[in-house]
Amino acid sequence: MEKLRLDKIIADAGIASRREAAQLIKSGFVTVDGAPALSGAEKYDPAASDIAVGGRHLSYKRYHYFMMNKPAGCVSATEDREEKTVLELLSDSDRRLRLFPAGRLDKDAEGFLILTDDGDFAHRIITPSKNIYKTYYVETDGRLTGDDVRAFSGGIVLKDGLKCLPAALEIISSGEKSSAAVRIREGKYHQVKRMLASRGKPVTYLKRTAVGGLTLDGGLAPGAYREMTADEIASVF
Ligand code: URA
Repeated sequence: MEKLRLDKIIADAGIASRREAAQLIKSGFVTVDGAPALSGAEKYDPAASDIAVGGRHLSYKRYHYFMMNKPAGCVSATEDREEKTVLELLSDSDRRLRLFPAGRLDKDAEGFLILTDDGDFAHRIITPSKNIYKTYYVETDGRLTGDDVRAFSGGIVLKDGLKCLPAALEIISSGEKSSAAVRIREGKYHQVKRMLASRGKPVTYLKRTAVGGLTLDGGLAPGAYREMTADEIASVF
């Protein structure tokens, strides 16, 4: 693995900010292969060096991937002047990792949000041509029918004339209020809500349940999150 600055290695591990890492090194709290480190500018291969901060040995990861069950009431952004963001749900050390959401969920929507610091990974999830389907559980006012299913598979035209790519609508229950699973591979603004609104069936509840081949961990309460395993990261694509 390439060599990186020691202060960056410590910051990437989520232990401290880069400036704090430099201070920890100066104060003698950091050792590399058992010997005190002298400067944050020194470069090491984090996979080959035994780096410890206050006696705690780092296991270095270049990138980080978290699965969150986003609750309603916060926005999928890294900062917002008025609204609470999903980053505010993270622990202090995870907040230092410079994570951002790979895709967005509306403020009132719930469910599966991936937070990562890997820009390429996020890009692959978001770009429609990469064909990563997102699955949503929806509840609507109005009766969902076979006509709606066919309209989804043919490509819904939104009220403003925008045409969506073919998508799947699988009806779970149908009545005055209905529920369904929707699978889309785009991420237009309010897309699922607008697709169903164009059919006269407004969405009353929306939860993302899967991203690509990976389903949200049902054990995560709204607002809870955890690191994804290597198998889970691979199963998205
Ligand atoms: N579609 C929507 O309408 N909202 C979301 O949050 C995600 C998809």
